Amino acid sequence: MLKDTYDVIVIGAGTGGAIAARFASKFGMDTLLVDRKQREQIGNKICGDALGSEIFDLIGIAHPRGKELDYKLKGVRLLSPDCSKEFFMVDQNQAGYLVNRVEFGQRLLKEAITEGAEFHDKIHVRETIQENGYVKGIKCIDNDGNARKINAKVTIDASGFYSQVRETIESTYIENSIAPEDTILCYREIVRLKDEPVDAPDHITIHLTQDLAPGGYIWYFPKGNNTVNIGTGGPRQKGMKMGKIIKERYRRNVFDRLIRGEVEVLSSGAGIVPVRRPLWSLVDNGIMLVGDSGCQVNPLHGGGIEASMRAGFMAAAVARKGVEANDCSIGKLWEYNHKYMVGQGSQFAALDILRIALQHFDDEDLNFGLKKEILSGEDILKIAYAGELELGMMDALSRIFKIGLLDSIRHAGLLINLAYVHKLMTDIKKLYELYPRAGKIDNFPTWKKRVNEIYLKIKSAF
Ligand SMILES: Cc1cc2nc3c(=O)[nH]c(=O)nc-3n(C[C@H](O)[C@H](O)[C@H](O)COP(=O)(O)OP(=O)(O)OC[C@H]3O[C@@H](n4cnc5c(N)ncnc54)[C@H](O)[C@@H]3O)c2cc1C
Repeated sequence: MLKDTYDVIVIGAGTGGAIAARFASKFGMDTLLVDRKQREQIGNKICGDALGSEIFDLIGIAHPRGKELDYKLKGVRLLSPDCSKEFFMVDQNQAGYLVNRVEFGQRLLKEAITEGAEFHDKIHVRETIQENGYVKGIKCIDNDGNARKINAKVTIDASGFYSQVRETIESTYIENSIAPEDTILCYREIVRLKDEPVDAPDHITIHLTQDLAPGGYIWYFPKGNNTVNIGTGGPRQKGMKMGKIIKERYRRNVFDRLIRGEVEVLSSGAGIVPVRRPLWSLVDNGIMLVGDSGCQVNPLHGGGIEASMRAGFMAAAVARKGVEANDCSIGKLWEYNHKYMVGQGSQFAALDILRIALQHFDDEDLNFGLKKEILSGEDILKIAYAGELELGMMDALSRIFKIGLLDSIRHAGLLINLAYVHKLMTDIKKLYELYPRAGKIDNFPTWKKRVNEIYLKIKSAF
């Protein structure tokens, strides 16, 4: 039976919401977790299904195993546009898993419930209750079709990219909408290969190709039993619709680049991923945002499972302090903003700068850059996961010698662009590390202005 009041309400039982509810409950709060889906469908999401192993130790939960775990991976293979160059990148912390999304989601849900969270399925949250500048709970339709109001000291919106909840929050801190150019539209299939073995079976493959996946890439993730999770995504274009047209277009033109023979398509579908830096603020009075709803996704590769789990854990820990102090104002919840932004947020902001630049490099530049190893596999790993690119002067010189002077002159534009992107990535990362602390929220407008200045620079350069 739904009660009228809880300490914490979590909207959405995806990876972010299930973890937020689990830890909110573990930390002693009376927690309600709701989802509009039927319970058996929790976890079912069109996704690449890949995530690193590090997060499980970080938040202290069991690694995927048994039915949840489709396949264990050693690392990443990056394939150049003309397929002539491949980098194999292995990072102990990021060697990871291909999960069975439903089984994984069901496990996270079960563990949240075991920890004490009260879960109700088929609850559609329409908006939040807002009174005197505070979010005070949710307005929803329950599974009998009745309109309900349920109160909470803290409401955590983990309802994903399409969050209609975020759209209705009245806040000067939280953005309600996400610009289409800051999102990518993806199409994905899970296929069984009939005529060939899985290529590079211990690695997930990322194939950069502006020709077939402009502004994006093709992924090819082994799932075991000769099956592959294959997909592609790129910036949304006007009039682009999901569904049949995309499916037909992508299968014929795009996936055939990596799969030569016949396949049996086991599952297919499309979805949208936000690929920008996190929202300016993930909190306001009585409200916190977690996961895709807060744009906590790696802008370079679109991976957001790990980030949503990390954020769910952090949000629960800060919500506890608010509930215990009976103060769930923005000032009290801001600690979550600060913690997130100076850490993963700063990495994602740097990667967002790189994403904007990369979307404008052509295949010739990418082939050249990868073939000549302007960036090493190690560099690329560091960039992809930490948003860090170290390019000292001596380093730059040695790279030019490696490339050869003539080629350096021929591709001077690329080298100059890379150096400029590197500078802006460093600048924004440092700025995010200075994200205003709780108690210094007055500095927020000045900080925001400085971030906007960097964005203006990268957007006018590309
Ligand atoms: C095609 C594709 C491929 C991807 N590949 C990868 C990958 O390989 N690795 C990776 O790490 N990430 C990947 N991602 C991103 C990843 O799927 C997301 O970042 C991650 O699932 C975010 O989790 P979340 O909990 O924030 O949201 P979600 O998983 O979207 O969960 C939101 C939940 O909220 C519920 N909900 C929504 N609205 C309401 C409402 N109004 N009321 C009640 N409930 C509601 C939904 O039913 C859902 O259960 C991919 C995404 C796409 C689209």
